[in-house]
Amino acid sequence: MFCSIYIFILGTIFGSFFYVVGTRLPNNESLLRPRSHCTYCNHFLKWFELIPLFSYLILRGKCLKCNHKLSKEYLLYELFAGVLFFLSYLKFGVSYEFFIALILSSLTILIFITDFKYMLILDSPLLISSLFVIILKYLYYGANEVFFSVLCGVFSFLIMLVIGKIGTILFKKEALGGGDIKFAFVMGLALSQSKFIFNSSILLSVFSGSRITLIALVFSTFLALPYAIASMLLKKDNEVPFGPFLASSTLIVFFFLEKFKYIFFLF
Ligand SMILES: [Zn+2]
Repeated sequence: MFCSIYIFILGTIFGSFFYVVGTRLPNNESLLRPRSHCTYCNHFLKWFELIPLFSYLILRGKCLKCNHKLSKEYLLYELFAGVLFFLSYLKFGVSYEFFIALILSSLTILIFITDFKYMLILDSPLLISSLFVIILKYLYYGANEVFFSVLCGVFSFLIMLVIGKIGTILFKKEALGGGDIKFAFVMGLALSQSKFIFNSSILLSVFSGSRITLIALVFSTFLALPYAIASMLLKKDNEVPFGPFLASSTLIVFFFLEKFKYIFFLF
């Protein structure tokens, strides 16, 4: 129990960091300078104003100096990360799956921040996540598994690339962002499993090992549909960021892999 509280707190700290990354990097701002400050009066935050969740609640969401209301997004993303880290630990314990869940959770949060705000998925988190997944796969399952997973990643990337191209032709505008297509590589990498291999042909093996990724791709469209319809009805703007739905679908499929496999193998 102590451990899970600790991991929740760790998650909120990471969430706070991701918010800084997700709001500064897209604007080409440095992560280190300027130090965290109030965006209204530029007052630099002291250490007790920087504690995730706690500071926001103690200060009642206001700047200590100018009393301006602070964005609720801080609180939201800190809580979001804390809960996802906590659930990862609860579901998997300390294991290979736990670390993968942490990587996917972190990526999901970052994509939520940057894609909803700026319609953008940053390259660096995709790159760092891929590296971490590769290291984990190597440590737990060895070099062959890494090789196989990278092939599955490339396969997913190519599938999304083709879907994007077809979409662009059909709708006469960019259907999938470059970030979505790059994210498909991480999906294929993280979700692939060589235990599914049932034949010796490399192409069929990759296809077979990528089945879970394909389910996640299909599931993401189900997740995005209500949002797309709502934004169409409300006529906000018809640009729907797809990244958050791709990322949450990947995370949900990873968390409930057994259930998704069961449903999938029925047909
Ligand atoms: Zn202020």
